[in-house]
Amino acid sequence: MADSDSTSPAGPRLALLGIPWDESSSFLRGAAGAPPLIRAALACDSSNSWGEKGLEITPQTLFDAGDLSLRSGADMRTHIEAAVADLLTRGFSPISLGGDHAVTYPILRAFARRYPRLSILHFDAHPDLYDVFQGDRFSHACPFARIMEEELAQRLVQLGIRTVNQSQREQAARFGVEMIEMRHWPAELRLDLEGPVYLTFDMDALDPAHAPGVSHREPGGLSTRQAIDAIHGLRAPIVGADIVEFNPVQDVSGMTAMVCGRLVKEIAAQMLETAASASSGEPGRRKNPGS
Ligand code: MN
Ligand code: MN
Repeated sequence: MADSDSTSPAGPRLALLGIPWDESSSFLRGAAGAPPLIRAALACDSSNSWGEKGLEITPQTLFDAGDLSLRSGADMRTHIEAAVADLLTRGFSPISLGGDHAVTYPILRAFARRYPRLSILHFDAHPDLYDVFQGDRFSHACPFARIMEEELAQRLVQLGIRTVNQSQREQAARFGVEMIEMRHWPAELRLDLEGPVYLTFDMDALDPAHAPGVSHREPGGLSTRQAIDAIHGLRAPIVGADIVEFNPVQDVSGMTAMVCGRLVKEIAAQMLETAASASSGEPGRRKNPGS
């Protein structure tokens, strides 16, 4: 599957991993159909392959690891965790394409073994902190409860939240979650995150006017511009990311797919940029990390 030099990348090298899973969705199915449409948007000739800051995202910097085949009823969490762990072992920084948000828990199990002091930056309309939802502890409404009770991250910073209720507020307090609710979005966002950072982007963080192709349309959300600016503002190294909850069944004329494609490019470019600055700050650092 991988070419010969992909087993030991010379610099930071990113890998796309499709995770077509939507059986943990509580309201609508459809997110499992997202990965090929995000790839098509990435390759679409209507745009180019550059991030806004001027870094090009090519097949050499963004290796395509393909889609997982997840059978209904199979232990999808074990499969996802193993696939992500394999990419990390081979030196890749995975960008996973969901799928519903339940996939982030097994992804983080793999990341936590490699990065014991991980911070999570989580874009979402929803806190996804329920202990159990509709009888399912692994629902897409619960992944961050599982992640925090297993201490897979030392910090969880949530952006764009606008559906928090009393039970989720109690869960957030229990786990020390730092939540920037949408109603409190600052004029100038400053995040004091230190690396390594895992970025998880639920497409319903965006306002439905910007991204209608989601299972849970929550008005009053982020603009695409605000989200990209928040990503560009990160100084800490991003070591992995996912884009989840794009539901093509709900999309309008491919709009949301194109937003996903843009987010992949901006996140990938930011990962390359922050990895380069992080490696120059490490003990025993290379003086010229790009050379
Ligand atoms: Mn979510
Ligand atoms: Mn959500």
